[in-house]
Amino acid sequence: MVEEKFPDGSAWMGGEFINLSEAKISVLDWGFLRSDATYDVVHVWNNRFFRLDHHIDRFYSSTKKLRMPCKIERTELKRILAGCVKRSNLKNSYVEMIQTRGMSPTFDRDPRKSTPRFIAFAIPFGWILKPENFNKGLDLAISTVKRISPESVDPKIKNYHWLDLVIGMYEAYDKGHYTTVLVDNNNNVLEGPGFNIFSVDDQGLNTPLSGVLEGITRQTAIDLAKELKIPTKEISITSEKFKNSKEAFATSTAGGIIPITKIDGKVIGNGTMGTITSKIKDLYWAKHTDPDWSECVEDLL
Ligand SMILES: *Cc1c(COP(=O)(O)O)cnc(C)c1O
Repeated sequence: MVEEKFPDGSAWMGGEFINLSEAKISVLDWGFLRSDATYDVVHVWNNRFFRLDHHIDRFYSSTKKLRMPCKIERTELKRILAGCVKRSNLKNSYVEMIQTRGMSPTFDRDPRKSTPRFIAFAIPFGWILKPENFNKGLDLAISTVKRISPESVDPKIKNYHWLDLVIGMYEAYDKGHYTTVLVDNNNNVLEGPGFNIFSVDDQGLNTPLSGVLEGITRQTAIDLAKELKIPTKEISITSEKFKNSKEAFATSTAGGIIPITKIDGKVIGNGTMGTITSKIKDLYWAKHTDPDWSECVEDLL
């Protein structure tokens, strides 16, 4: 058997902190067999969680919508997440909380018979695009794959139904692009694998109104734009309009505010990070030391 390798990190499962390599679930867990799970990811930067309560609120809402409300209350949940970070000895990390449907003790097909499983872990901070490549920016392809319809799976529940996104990524790689953005049935751009998108025009920012996960970084970009007196519209964005952006950027916990400089081969702006994008990005990182926006890991243990 090939030995599996693990990054640095620490996990919490079944009531205790464990090494990442020991954090395992049964192949019979519905989270694995049916992608019947929800999750959230928050990051820690210089030992501070960023907007943790927003992530916990979304996690509680997701687990409730899936009819398996998380039973761990907020203070305890924070203690678990902070404990994973503390034990991993990472200053900058990516902290994931997951709840799966679990497994039925009698292997019953009725999801109500299973016991939900909660797992948390901390691993090193991951970037959709490394900061040294920010001036080069993201080169996106607009996918021919349509995002799973919001009438089928509520995109506001953070989920692992990624087959559309993964096929979109392969399509982008085949054409020599870095990553992808998926569209709806009317060719409006929606979101990419783990990130939301913004288009900048003469009026200000635009970001898709619906059919997407309401990213915490998306909300943060909207909040920061307001502080900078830049208007934001939540509105449908056609592929054409997106390609004609003055500037564009992606938002994600995995890297913050990330410049997009090419869409389907078309150069956006002057092909480097735009000035509005740059302003929002700088303010985003400045907020990471502000106690109104961030909490120290040690204070939560
Ligand atoms: C997590 C995720 C995002 C980004 O959300 P953040 O809360 O900003 O990290 C966007 N789209 C999808 C599909 C996601 O899973």
